Amino acid sequence: MDFPEDLMHLIRTDEPLGPLAWLGIGGPARFFAEPMNTTEVQRLVTVAQEQGVAVRILGGGSNILVREAGVNGLVISLAGAMSNEIVIEETKMTVGAGAKLSHAVIKSVGAGLGGLEHLVGIPGTVGGAVVGNASAGGRDIGSAVSTVTVVEKNGSIRTMTQQEAGFSHRKTSLGGLAVLDVTFQLDTRDVAALTKRMQKLWISRNAVRPTEEPRIAMPFVDPDGMPAKELLQTVGLAGISEGEVALDSQHPQFMIARSGATSEQCLRLIERVREQVSLQTGIDLQLNLQIW
Ligand SMILES: Cc1cc2nc3c(=O)[nH]c(=O)nc-3n(C[C@H](O)[C@H](O)[C@H](O)COP(=O)(O)OP(=O)(O)OC[C@H]3O[C@@H](n4cnc5c(N)ncnc54)[C@H](O)[C@@H]3O)c2cc1C
Repeated sequence: MDFPEDLMHLIRTDEPLGPLAWLGIGGPARFFAEPMNTTEVQRLVTVAQEQGVAVRILGGGSNILVREAGVNGLVISLAGAMSNEIVIEETKMTVGAGAKLSHAVIKSVGAGLGGLEHLVGIPGTVGGAVVGNASAGGRDIGSAVSTVTVVEKNGSIRTMTQQEAGFSHRKTSLGGLAVLDVTFQLDTRDVAALTKRMQKLWISRNAVRPTEEPRIAMPFVDPDGMPAKELLQTVGLAGISEGEVALDSQHPQFMIARSGATSEQCLRLIERVREQVSLQTGIDLQLNLQIW
């Protein structure tokens, strides 16, 4: 791929992606860029489209599994230099896609705005959370979204309504677009009560997470009516391992990559789990983790 002169300073080649993913494994990106502003995102997307190069957007890397072969395309990181501003106007809060979700939650709570506090403790960026319609405690992020601004495949900017973004259980219609910022419609609430609720949720969420394990992912979507944790415990898959990759024995909704783990091992483990769940219960366990 030939990048035009004005983009060359942004492009890195064969950039290792493992250090940028929570699982800490996987090969490099053929091309990698950390744009500083919207115009650069638009230019990168347009040039890649013209040259037939696949584009992937990277947020905080907490929901990706990168294969050993890496990504033969352009990875655009929006968690770096740009787009982490948070602006509050009355009950609306607009957040750059690269802002950490935890920052947005804390900021909204501090301003006495309710609607995001249940998402406390979910790692990653606001962009990643909105694209995957992250959820916790039975409520998703999409329910608080007013509009989403994206760069389309042809490089143009579009502001989509909540309906157009198509939020459903851990899914949206935003795949393939680069989310630049998100506006939330929140409710005025008492700051002290909100803060207390957020702190309680934070403590209870941390208590059910293997905190001693830094390389971790939450691979599966909770199937209808049952948390993945319960399902995996019921079918006896807690602690199951494949090479250096395992489901946590206490909290099997988490997959842990120990030293020496590979993406192949992760994929084999995921396949075995899905097969076993299907055999024993007939449930088709869906993946939350995005395989790159
Ligand atoms: C310990 C742990 C706990 C978790 N708990 C929860 C939980 O309770 N609930 C839950 O829903 N999830 C949970 N997750 C999963 C994960 O944290 C969320 O899915 C998170 O929202 C992903 O955000 P990210 O920025 O890290 O996305 P990434 O991992 O960087 O990317 C994930 C996907 O989103 C896309 N993407 C990211 N940013 C953008 C953007 N700006 N524009 C377009 N596409 C983009 C990527 O291309 C990729 O397909 C957990 C993960 C871990 C490791």
